[in-house]
Amino acid sequence: MIVGTVVGTVLIVAITVAIGVYADKKLHLAPRAEELATPPKPRGHAVGEAPATAIRAGAAQLANLRAGQRCKECRTVLVAAGVDEEIRYAERTLIVLHFSCPRCADVRRRSLYVEPISG
Ligand SMILES: [Zn+2]
Repeated sequence: MIVGTVVGTVLIVAITVAIGVYADKKLHLAPRAEELATPPKPRGHAVGEAPATAIRAGAAQLANLRAGQRCKECRTVLVAAGVDEEIRYAERTLIVLHFSCPRCADVRRRSLYVEPISG
């Protein structure tokens, strides 16, 4: 009878696991490994182009970001356009840098969202 009990237990465990796997596949209960590895990215905006994709930058990086933006059209280095804007987004304070292209100024304006960090 002991053998029967062991087989019964193994069967119950196997069935439980099978149901769990089935339910997981059907309902997508547990997050997949790849979902855990890469946090969801907001679609449609490149890094720094929207509050949701703000670049985390320290003072030195911020200076680099200010100096190193190029026009997507003509690759000319962009110049600052107006003063920095400070906005609140998702409980964080972001700086919005504004740029314009000296060659196609009227057409190509660009904003860069930066989340200042210390260091
Ligand atoms: Zn340009």
